[in-house]
Amino acid sequence: MFQEMLGKKYEAYLAFIRKAMIKDQIEARGVKDQRVLAAMQQVCRHCFVTEDMVSRAYEDYPLPIHSGQTISQPYIVALMSELLALTGGERVLEVGTGSGYQTAVLAELAAEVDTVELNPALAHDAKEKLGKLGYKNINFRTGDGALGWPERAPYDAALVTCAAAEVPPELVKQLKSGGRLVIPVEGIAGQELRLITKTAAGLESRTICAVRFVPMMGAK
Ligand code: SAH
Repeated sequence: MFQEMLGKKYEAYLAFIRKAMIKDQIEARGVKDQRVLAAMQQVCRHCFVTEDMVSRAYEDYPLPIHSGQTISQPYIVALMSELLALTGGERVLEVGTGSGYQTAVLAELAAEVDTVELNPALAHDAKEKLGKLGYKNINFRTGDGALGWPERAPYDAALVTCAAAEVPPELVKQLKSGGRLVIPVEGIAGQELRLITKTAAGLESRTICAVRFVPMMGAK
């Protein structure tokens, strides 16, 4: 009983500091999309970190997860989600499921999310966790995300959470016309976040900011 009470109080405290994180670190840095801000409030980031990191879940830093990978920084998750300009009806491809945190945010924002993870242990844990949290609009695949998910393409939007040496052509191919791809790419001076839009006239590419992601592995 006492533990249950303490647990409830702690959950309320975590929701409170999550709200503060969104106001002070995400809105304050320029993220405006109200649906993205609401999704960031909805998803319990502390559910996706290791137990020893729960108290640090609402600091604006990436944190270690299993297998030497990291859960992305909340501001970057919000920024990348906003760049996709989702309105709710979209089918989205995600590459690099990792902890599943960004996947959950996307699942709040779009109709359906297909997520691909190279590491089978991470893919397994993320699937179990997102299932327990009640998400029913996420499909999981273990494999090389640079190849996308051709059987389920085309996509309205795609988001990559590991840094690629170059933009994988398959991901562009699997976008619908008008579709948007957000991806960290190795540049001359380090990684840069790019927003690529597929138009009838070809590809438009915009560099957004410098970022630091784990490298994309096993890509061709
Ligand atoms: N968005 C995740 C970030 C995970 S880190 C989160 O917030 O938790 C990046 C992930 O990309 C790692 O889990 C890593 O295993 C995965 N990854 C690396 N190369 C990949 C590839 N070629 N295909 C799919 N996933 C890959």
